[in-house]
Amino acid sequence: KEKLELITQKIRPFPDFPSKGIVFRDICPILKDPAALNAVIELFEEHVRETCPGVQMIVGLDARGFLFGPLLAQRLGVGFVLVRKKGKLPGPTTSVSYTLEYGKAEVEIQEDAIEAGQKVLLIDDLLATGGTLYAACELMKKLKAEVLGCLVVIELTDLKGAERIKPNHVFSLVQY
Ligand code: 5GP
Repeated sequence: KEKLELITQKIRPFPDFPSKGIVFRDICPILKDPAALNAVIELFEEHVRETCPGVQMIVGLDARGFLFGPLLAQRLGVGFVLVRKKGKLPGPTTSVSYTLEYGKAEVEIQEDAIEAGQKVLLIDDLLATGGTLYAACELMKKLKAEVLGCLVVIELTDLKGAERIKPNHVFSLVQY
């Protein structure tokens, strides 16, 4: 499809970043190109309207989920909330810790960001091992939100992130 081609052309591979043996997929060129960015949002919007018309809130992951999430939320006419790395949000928060390849990280959300029973979609730029999205799904559980699915621009299929976040579904635009 034309839109997907536009997007794929704007994903820049950087070998050996942030460490040797890793190919970092840079999405910054998508943001620089209005047509490519629009294609991302339109494909997400199409998918959401078809498969989860009842969505009430888009939940974006720190930090690149913040770049796409609010644009999509506006198109859908729903709100956007932030899942942040620990220590960034004021007021009462709830958090979930998860393990990284080296060490630990924690994601956090404001306690009143989502009401119990609200239908949400999570969004990030890229799914790798799924650790980050899994932790965010756990946060949603704590707030008793209903997760309709996860959206990512890029999925690194070898890393089996989709398995990790089961039974939640992931929709990705580009796969490597
Ligand atoms: P995971 O938790 O699935 O292993 O890693 C996904 C998280 O790491 C996402 O929040 C994503 O932004 C970031 N990430 C990991 N690798 C890449 C990459 O190659 N490109 C980009 N843009 N983000 C990455």
